[in-house]
Amino acid sequence: MPIKLVTFDLDDTFWDCEPVILKAESIFFAWLECEYPDIASSFTPQTIVEHRRAVFAKCDENKHDFSFLRKRWLGVLGQEFGYGEALVESGFEIFWRARNDVTLYPTVLKMLEKLRGSYQLATITNGNADVYRIGIGHWFDAVVTAADANCAKPSGGIFDYALRQLGVRAEEAVHVGDDPINDVMGAKNHGMRSIWVNPKRLPWRYDGAPDADIPNVGELVSALNSLSE
Ligand SMILES: [Mg+2]
Repeated sequence: MPIKLVTFDLDDTFWDCEPVILKAESIFFAWLECEYPDIASSFTPQTIVEHRRAVFAKCDENKHDFSFLRKRWLGVLGQEFGYGEALVESGFEIFWRARNDVTLYPTVLKMLEKLRGSYQLATITNGNADVYRIGIGHWFDAVVTAADANCAKPSGGIFDYALRQLGVRAEEAVHVGDDPINDVMGAKNHGMRSIWVNPKRLPWRYDGAPDADIPNVGELVSALNSLSE
């Protein structure tokens, strides 16, 4: 079956995610120290993350929408300290800008340029990275988040949501991502092929092995050519 569509995970597939999130949390905390010192002085950078996670865990609606959850948490934080909703939008913006200040892996843009024209391209992320804010949105025919699909990888629903947007059948699509369960097994279980981005060259320890295993997305063009043969 020829491949018509390539879908991509974002975090840890197009950039190293952990330093971005750590930096965004640190920029947010520095902003809080400046704007709301009484809130900041009641926490450490670690305990405020624990406070946020506890609010996330208790929230029953929009569980897959990290932007919604973060705003909900900022609302709770504001209420606890008598500020109401005052810090919701500004506090979210500070974090969100830093969360999208990513450094693309050096092979990403060249790879997208090589694939465009041969395949439809889409992104499928569970997080709230924004490809338009990052400046790569124009490369994609569809941009799908767990918030849009109202379900998250590895659920088949989010893969289906992306396929339906482009009118492509699962067997005509390949998903590319770093997470063995969310990306590789999620896509395989939905009838798509999958390519594992595996920079540490780890052995495969799960069911449903990937159709290809590459150290970085720079190797994707040749991996797709091999799948098409
Ligand atoms: Mg990832």
